[in-house]
Amino acid sequence: MLNDWFQNHKRDLPWRADPTPYRVWISEVMLQQTRATVVIPYFEKWMRLFPDVATLAHASLDAVIKAWEGLGYYSRARNLHKGAQQIVERFGGEIPSTREELMSIQGLGPYTVNAILSFGFRKRAAPVDGNVTRVLARFFAIEDNVCKQAVKRKIAQGAEALLTPDEPWVTAEALIELGATICTPRPRCEICPLNKNCLGKERAHLLPIKNIEKELTQLKRAVLWIEAVGKVLVKKGEPGKIMADLYEFPYFEMEELWPIQKIKKAILAEFGLKPQVIGQGPQVTHTFTRYKATLFPFKFRLKTPQEIVGYEWVEQNNLSKLPFSSGHRRILHL
Ligand code: SF4
Repeated sequence: MLNDWFQNHKRDLPWRADPTPYRVWISEVMLQQTRATVVIPYFEKWMRLFPDVATLAHASLDAVIKAWEGLGYYSRARNLHKGAQQIVERFGGEIPSTREELMSIQGLGPYTVNAILSFGFRKRAAPVDGNVTRVLARFFAIEDNVCKQAVKRKIAQGAEALLTPDEPWVTAEALIELGATICTPRPRCEICPLNKNCLGKERAHLLPIKNIEKELTQLKRAVLWIEAVGKVLVKKGEPGKIMADLYEFPYFEMEELWPIQKIKKAILAEFGLKPQVIGQGPQVTHTFTRYKATLFPFKFRLKTPQEIVGYEWVEQNNLSKLPFSSGHRRILHL
């Protein structure tokens, strides 16, 4: 029933046309970031730039980060790059087909491993993401917190049990598709292929039960666009830090919005610079990990660029070629 529904209603998505293990891997990692419609152009561009594991492994990290720019959680892009290098070194460039070998590759967790085994190798495996969790919490009327490990295991077993013996990969993908298109946060039970046997459809709007999300920490930052003879001061994020490998403009944390005089004093104290103020841009908000930052851009000009440890002066025309954190990229476009 579910398999038939999927075959007749599945969305036409580029990674479904030719589900090689490599294409499944890349698409599934991208889909962990955002909706399928947003992923499509990223996926197509990625496949043009890095059509196979070896090309990805030999690309520069900057090129990989640039191709990922805008998707967020850049550690996933770094893991794809590192994972491709491991596949070349340890498996001769062929993605391995056993759970144990796949789990040994950087960045691959149970969900992605199951997706590769199921869609890429057509093995019996049930990838369980947020969509599948929602569908199954409702289908089995699970009234417990789905963030608990024991409940996660129960849902994974439920997904396994639903896989058909002949084409388990179709059921696995159908569950994901159902969660993305029908059993969404606002479910459309009246057209759902599982309607007849669904135990939780009357309470669907209350399920799944999840932990209350942690509150975001609010940050206020004065972001400094400092230009000098066509160059702009930027800094590349250090390895191991939140913004590793991404570029940002210099910035100061503020408890409340600082007057421009205070910002000028801070620039003198921090960088030894006395730039001229040339403007202020509209504020930008930027959410990352557990922070919500409000960015206040200020524009300054210097007569000549001066060397500042840890920073670099980049030609203004070349800025858009660098991978920027999403908040600072929006400031760049302003
Ligand atoms: S019947 Fe409703 S609640 Fe149950 S799986 Fe379908 S859409 Fe979800």
